[in-house]
Amino acid sequence: MDAFTENFIKHHKLPKFYFFNAKGKTVIEVRKKMKKEGAYFAYNTTPCKNGEHRIRDRKGHCVVCNTAYITFMLRFNESGYIYIAGTIDGKMMKIGSTNNVARREKSLNKSKYANCTDWEIIYYFFCTKIGLFEYKATCKLSNHSTKIQYKHDGVFHMAQEIYLCSFKTAYSVIKSLQENIEIKEETFFTYKAKRYNFRNLIYYSKGENSAQSLLPRNNSKKQ
Ligand SMILES: [Zn+2]
Repeated sequence: MDAFTENFIKHHKLPKFYFFNAKGKTVIEVRKKMKKEGAYFAYNTTPCKNGEHRIRDRKGHCVVCNTAYITFMLRFNESGYIYIAGTIDGKMMKIGSTNNVARREKSLNKSKYANCTDWEIIYYFFCTKIGLFEYKATCKLSNHSTKIQYKHDGVFHMAQEIYLCSFKTAYSVIKSLQENIEIKEETFFTYKAKRYNFRNLIYYSKGENSAQSLLPRNNSKKQ
């Protein structure tokens, strides 16, 4: 292991066994072995285009260029609660994960998440691999996804995993993804769900912070 990789691992406080030596191996070989050995990252990979770094995650992302992939990759295999929250003021739904549902509901409001203070968690369940579940949900709802910048403790944050859709739409995506996995502690506040019959909007991104390009979806009816 070269000094750069060594320092990188130290800096991010990761265990060494998360890293697989890809030297002289094909991509397919590397992926297979990483899975088998429970490694999340490979070093001595082919150099990335941006900075010729040689540390990548299982999906081939350069984790030096974008360290967010580290958290993302590790959270794939964590267990916890997946929740659907909604804001009536913002007419948005959020799918997220947490270890403490009640605390998360409070923190969404306290931090004025996506500039809203009326967030409530409508539905949640416990599962393993919350990161993977969240990722799949994000893909399925990508049409309705938006990003909103908000300020908390004097720092700008970007609210993500928020969707311009009804509770019903978010819920049906979650349900479709639950088919082959074991879920526990499923909790559904049906009386809350009725308040979130928003229109399903498609978001056309015109740059990071633009929220002006919202158009109703042609074939969508109010649910
Ligand atoms: Zn890179």
